[in-house]
Amino acid sequence: MAKKIVAGNWKMNKNLQEGLELANGLNDALAADKPNCEVIICTPFIHLAKVSELVNHDNIKVGAENCADKVSGAFTGEVSAEMVKSTGCEYVILGHSERREYYHETPEILKEKVDLALANGLKILFCIGESLAEREANKQNEVVKAELEGSVFHLTAEQFANVVIAYEPIWAIGTGKTATADQAEEIHAYIRSVVAEKYGKAVADNTSILYGGSCKASNAPELFAKPDIDGGLIGGASLKVADFKGIIDAWKK
Ligand code: PEP
Repeated sequence: MAKKIVAGNWKMNKNLQEGLELANGLNDALAADKPNCEVIICTPFIHLAKVSELVNHDNIKVGAENCADKVSGAFTGEVSAEMVKSTGCEYVILGHSERREYYHETPEILKEKVDLALANGLKILFCIGESLAEREANKQNEVVKAELEGSVFHLTAEQFANVVIAYEPIWAIGTGKTATADQAEEIHAYIRSVVAEKYGKAVADNTSILYGGSCKASNAPELFAKPDIDGGLIGGASLKVADFKGIIDAWKK
């Protein structure tokens, strides 16, 4: 059975003080009411060490939103996978559509990041998903398969066990437009079948496949009720304790 997960992606939001306040608030809320799923908060680099110190890791895991495609050295402004790991955090988001689009992260670059993250003991939230034009041309299956093949399917099954897939249709990210639960389930089932083709059914059944794209407390229960949706990667609704907790609680319904 795949692990059920709700992960937050704060993106470029919250200064240090605001971020600590949010992490603290969530930590208190989950201490009072234990989650039924794994909860991850992925924060900007500057928050990682302090957030990691502050939260109870039984209830909240911490992740970065990116890491470098190089080991170390003269790469001004970059943060390596080893540095990320040294903050005490466990996860890193790779392949987010915003990084692919705005920072031109190609499948080859992402493959380097994937390898470095794993080599440094980080688990990966690997994002895939099609644009609106690709969905309208009915190319979504082709797109997600190519994204997996391009950056994670070179891994051994043992390595792949440290990869969580996040299906995020680009047209649903931050737009208020959610894929319907049936639309999401259809492609999640396809993604699982592609993983099964590559690694076998047992690995595929153990792979967590999260949905991302305008997921909120009101639509999470319907999405999470689908057999191939193992949770969510949450942007906007991870920035307030009550909103994020509402999604975490969808696993209690
Ligand atoms: C995201 O960017 O990972 C995301 C899912 O954003 P939002 O929830 O704001 O659509």
